[in-house]
This record gives sequence, C-alpha cells and structure tokens, in this order.
Amino acid sequence: MPEIAEIRLGDLVQMRKPHACGENEWTIVRTGIDIRIQCRRCGRSVLMARPQFLRSAKRISRPAPRDEAES
Ligand SMILES: [Zn+2]
Repeated sequence: MPEIAEIRLGDLVQMRKPHACGENEWTIVRTGIDIRIQCRRCGRSVLMARPQFLRSAKRISRPAPRDEAES
C-alpha cells in the first residue's frame, strides 16, 4: 500500500483490480470519510470508505502539482 498523506480532488489513482470496462485509472472526485472515484474510460463512479480505498489503491499520482502555500 502506498504511503498517502492526503488525497486530493483530481488525483489520478491506479487500482489493484481494473474496472469491469478494462480501465485501471480513476480520478478522485470526492474526498472525506468516503472517497468517490470516477473511471476515466466509462465515467462510472464508485464510492468507498477511505480505509477500503487505501487498500484497493495501487498508486496515486498528482497530474498537476500546484505550488501554493498551504499553511
Ligand atoms: Zn470503467
């Protein structure tokens, strides 16, 4: 399991198991206690509890890192 300090909207996530449509990359569309991810190919979204998400995720990448000050 990757070390994930935080999950942000728009992050790309690669899951351990591909979606039924064959795609394996998802976009984070909602964060919080539950995480909603949307399949990049077919557009279906799945809501899952954060611990379950962290178990299922293989890799998370941030396509466009921003340099805003955050504190
Ligand atoms: Zn899909």
